[in-house]
Amino acid sequence: MISKKAEKRLAQGSRIRAMFEEAKKLRALLGDENVFDFSLGNPDQKPPQEILNSLLELAELKADLSHSYMSNAGYTDLRGQIAEKEMKRNSRTFAEAGVIMTVGAAGALNVCLQTILNPDDEVIIIAPYFAEYIHYIDQANAKAVVCPSLENFLPDLERLEALCNERTKAIIINSPNNPSGAVYPESLYQKLQEILSGKNQTIYVLSDEVYRDILYTDADFPSPAKAIENTMICYSWSKSYSIPGERVGYIACSKDVEGYETLVQALALYNRTLGFVNAPAIWQNVLRDNVNIVPDTSVYRRKRDLFLDMFRDLRVPCHEAEGAFYLFPKVAPQMTSDEYVAALKQEGILVVAGEAFGYPGHVRISYAVPMEKIEQALPKYRAFIRRVYESDSEK
Ligand code: PLP
Repeated sequence: MISKKAEKRLAQGSRIRAMFEEAKKLRALLGDENVFDFSLGNPDQKPPQEILNSLLELAELKADLSHSYMSNAGYTDLRGQIAEKEMKRNSRTFAEAGVIMTVGAAGALNVCLQTILNPDDEVIIIAPYFAEYIHYIDQANAKAVVCPSLENFLPDLERLEALCNERTKAIIINSPNNPSGAVYPESLYQKLQEILSGKNQTIYVLSDEVYRDILYTDADFPSPAKAIENTMICYSWSKSYSIPGERVGYIACSKDVEGYETLVQALALYNRTLGFVNAPAIWQNVLRDNVNIVPDTSVYRRKRDLFLDMFRDLRVPCHEAEGAFYLFPKVAPQMTSDEYVAALKQEGILVVAGEAFGYPGHVRISYAVPMEKIEQALPKYRAFIRRVYESDSEK
């Protein structure tokens, strides 16, 4: 018998994964050429050539490669390179000891949450949010507390402050945001730091930065770590280097983070006891000397613009994503997001209902798919929007 908790979780399922399975069924029914799957955030780009070269070199055993266990936090020299990078980005002191190599960003977030949370502690997440956060927090026997965003998809800091209480242990910030594509400005973090420094307890900010290298603004990515001292950065190369199946990322804490010395030891401990043990050795070796590659994201911008131009043209409200590879348009006023998703599926187009992100009335489109699929889908999508808006104006 599975546990009551597992039963509940299974029943809840994942809307994103459900759409992914739906796409498989549709392909069998309609043929691959008639299915346009914008449901999953699975990068379609090739990894950077430097990464492929490094992998090839290691596979040919040109270097003396170890396949052994290592320190649970990962290879020291690689962690040192990451500390240096974070130090430059955030103007704070990072050392190799404060970097823990993890099994992707999901591993990083789970290790952080398990390390800091007591049962019944609260973690604030900002809607719309990456739905897995709810599972991660629940797994740590804590409670997710949802704070809404404003119309522009920035967190409502007044509401956030009102939601903080003595049980609040952390806030998860995800910028660039999945699903809205919003990038939070540095000024917001300065205000948040003011709020947090006025509290009598430590509230950590877990900064989920998986999309920080996919940016459409000219400015550098603003990390909360710059303004907020108790920030734990959670990053992976899943999206930036298009290697989500390889499962490698890290947690980085500056020396300013409250309880630094014991915190970093506890993070390494949980990396071990959650069963990750350490991040994959081969991928840590591949990434050594390769942490500063700037991925070419111009193709994502072109894909984003194709959708954005259509929404603008048809006057569908949609936030002009400044990062990540998602758009989060509003659905037609007379429909729920579920109805919209179901009707769009009839055209062979798959997107995810906003409910999956705690934000009804919208759908998420992942445009990390081949350009030709977007070009083929857009005339159908355009016709669909015209139809649903016309039927609304007839009422
Ligand atoms: N955080 C966000 C916001 C994501 O969208 C994802 C994956 O889609 C993750 C974390 C998980 O990243 P990883 O595959 O590196 O574990």
